[in-house]
Amino acid sequence: MAETLDFASPLLPFVDARKAFRHEQKVAGYLPLTSLKNLSAMLADTDGTVEAVLSFRFDQDRRRRIDGELWATVNVQCQRCLEPVQISLGERFELAVVSTEAMAKELPAALDPWLSDEETLSPADIVEEQLILCMPIVSTHTQCDAAIVQDVLEKGVGIEHSDQAEEKQASNPFSVLATLKNRSDKH
Ligand SMILES: [Zn+2]
Repeated sequence: MAETLDFASPLLPFVDARKAFRHEQKVAGYLPLTSLKNLSAMLADTDGTVEAVLSFRFDQDRRRRIDGELWATVNVQCQRCLEPVQISLGERFELAVVSTEAMAKELPAALDPWLSDEETLSPADIVEEQLILCMPIVSTHTQCDAAIVQDVLEKGVGIEHSDQAEEKQASNPFSVLATLKNRSDKH
């Protein structure tokens, strides 16, 4: 049976936690980024929406599962030039609803806990948290990224990705500089 998901409507604000899993409820829709207050603090602006689908069911171990996927294009601040840079996010998630921290610790590694003992669940809260978790720690424009590498080589400042990368640069800084120079000469 073909299934069509409708992302043209806003995501349901609440689902009934007692029914959603038993009835294998599936919700799909969008949320304006302006409505996601915790996420907004991490963004350069709140233009745009996130689209998401969430499926509720009991798995074979009678766990209350929420499996879902989200898609969003957001503007964040480039860590180099401080101008907005657009990034696309897509994430699948597999959650198990638990009512205590102890239950959360017993989950298999593949499942993330969603702590709740409420009679309703908020798809928006779930989507916002998953979106925050998949945000990159540092974002830069592609051209700014190249400039950071140059800064590290010339002034020894910037972001060190690992000890190994540092060693490699320290052992042969001039060949890397030559590569960078060749690259800019071609443009
Ligand atoms: Zn930049």
